[in-house]
Amino acid sequence: MSKDWNKRTKLVHGGTRRSQYNEVSEAIFLTQGFVYDSAEQAEARFLETGPDEFIYARYGNPTVAMFEDRIAALEGAEAAFATASGMAAVSAALTASLKAGDHVVAARALFGSSLYVLEELLGRFGVEVTFVDGLDLDQWRDAIRPDTALVFFETIANPTLEVIDLPAVAELAHAVGARVMVDNVFVTPVHSRALSQGADVVIYSATKHIDGQGRALGGVILGSEEYIRKVIEPYMKHTGGAMSPFSAWVMLKGLETIALRVRAQIEGATRLAEALQGHPKLARAIYPGHPDHPQHALVMRDMGMGGTVISLDLKGGQEAAFRFLNALNIAVISNNLGDAKSIATHPATTTHQRLSDEQKVTLGITPGLVRFSVGIEDPEDLLADVLAALDAA
Ligand SMILES: *Cc1c(COP(=O)(O)O)cnc(C)c1O
Repeated sequence: MSKDWNKRTKLVHGGTRRSQYNEVSEAIFLTQGFVYDSAEQAEARFLETGPDEFIYARYGNPTVAMFEDRIAALEGAEAAFATASGMAAVSAALTASLKAGDHVVAARALFGSSLYVLEELLGRFGVEVTFVDGLDLDQWRDAIRPDTALVFFETIANPTLEVIDLPAVAELAHAVGARVMVDNVFVTPVHSRALSQGADVVIYSATKHIDGQGRALGGVILGSEEYIRKVIEPYMKHTGGAMSPFSAWVMLKGLETIALRVRAQIEGATRLAEALQGHPKLARAIYPGHPDHPQHALVMRDMGMGGTVISLDLKGGQEAAFRFLNALNIAVISNNLGDAKSIATHPATTTHQRLSDEQKVTLGITPGLVRFSVGIEDPEDLLADVLAALDAA
């Protein structure tokens, strides 16, 4: 693989390892362990593994390594570690990076399970977490202290699609030597420039756009060689959240087509957002890629596109939202996102049900809010489906 290749070429050829059969399509190495030629070789392998040498699938596997190398090349990261799910990546990256007495600053608008890890779990082990409104740089400035070890946020937040100023937050964090960790799912690895914009660690749930076809769970942590090998690898080896070789193969094949899928999804999201602005049934049609979005300039500067998800706030509250969801014919009601199929979600009663009413209000998760993950279907068919369902609402 050449470093000079552009992203789309890296997505097809990056990280490929071929066996003695020179197969075209990447092989699935469904093996837990690896045979050593001699006792001496086994001893040497346990001391240090070379690039094509493996010990045990919890530590690494050739198919998993292909996925890690391909996504690292795409992200422009020195190294990557694949995990069993997106949450395995988030929880491992946080836990492995922190110790009792550390202080963390996190944006309040987070994926529910990430909020659980930060709000409930880390506290049990003596880590203090301060939550801020991620859009308000003054709140970040006030919350970040000399003893802050880490800042954590979603670059585009779920489900309200607020966009956080990564370079500005990173500057504040780095001024006190804190590590900048971002959950970059909504940006997608295709459009991420997070490392060059100040992130030290980038995390994806591969379950979303990387698989992109609703099949397998997965996650990945990307960062410097030093961080991945010294901080993440020992933690992952000994706590067991490894990605399965089969899932790694699904993700590897997903990466081959992710740029094409994401491009089609952005095209659809842009078309829907344009057509739905000012629709009489909607209080808001939220899409960072639309010029009316409050952080439109920021998202175009940092990501160059507005993502694959739009959020629709229906005027009639939960009843209207449910009538809308039940009237959709193409988009399915589910809770994944980034899929080839359009997926509509009612966050207040599903993904964010656990939050108090007060928390929902603070985060902008209104009873009428529907998250619409745009698939790769024809944009005009999707628009007709959404318009008909809005009529029914
Ligand atoms: C889905 C998601 C996760 C968790 O990923 P899983 O693969 O479901 O464990 C974390 N963060 C964000 C932003 C997500 O959308």
